Amino acid sequence: MLQKKCESVISKNILKVNSEINSICKKAGRDPSKITVLGASKSQSIEKIREAYISGINHFGENYLQEAESKIHSIGGDVTWHFIGSIQSRKAKKIAEIFDWAHAVDSVKIAKKLNDARPLYKNALKVCIQLNIDKEASKSGIELKDIENIFFEIRDFENLEIKGLMVIPRPRDSIQEQQNVFKEVKEIFDSLNQKGMNMDTLSMGMSSDYGIAIKEGSTMIRIGTGIFGQRK
Ligand SMILES: *Cc1c(COP(=O)(O)O)cnc(C)c1O
Repeated sequence: MLQKKCESVISKNILKVNSEINSICKKAGRDPSKITVLGASKSQSIEKIREAYISGINHFGENYLQEAESKIHSIGGDVTWHFIGSIQSRKAKKIAEIFDWAHAVDSVKIAKKLNDARPLYKNALKVCIQLNIDKEASKSGIELKDIENIFFEIRDFENLEIKGLMVIPRPRDSIQEQQNVFKEVKEIFDSLNQKGMNMDTLSMGMSSDYGIAIKEGSTMIRIGTGIFGQRK
């Protein structure tokens, strides 16, 4: 049974992602153990998530609260759950209750809701501030000029731990341009850290671009189709 599962498409995909990470890290002089692979499991079944779990993935990212709730209750085990979707105000309470991380924090108001709702018996909720690097009106995230402000407003929230930045740049026409955006984000990340922000997580890169994201300094990649195949 286990043998059969080891040969599954999902486990092969995971092997492929891992070997890609290893080779990119080798070329870039980075330590592959510092890269966290998060399975972006929206719209994927519990069975598929289990398959990814037994193939070595123990971080999963979900975008929709309702869908995530039943998954979190069913999977059990040593799994870290990340909320990677945009956080609606009325969903913030439940998100703070059941997730370990939230990646798309983009306002003080949302951060406060998460902080207030985080159960005291749990560790602080780990959060990333979403940077809207392309200033796209349609996207969640905040612009660079507002990053420091939100950071200093929420850094003393006791039930949140600010871990880093999350970014989803709009697709560029060439790999080189895509890579340049990632480089720019990494420079922003480093300069904020120099100002005392003390972040260790750069959540950047998805199935189509995680290689160049790692090359440019990502520490957490969110892989959906590259692990699970096409979404329903
Ligand atoms: C769906 C999703 C991903 C994964 O996208 P793929 O292209 O399938 O790898 C990553 N990050 C976020 C925020 C997502 O919503």
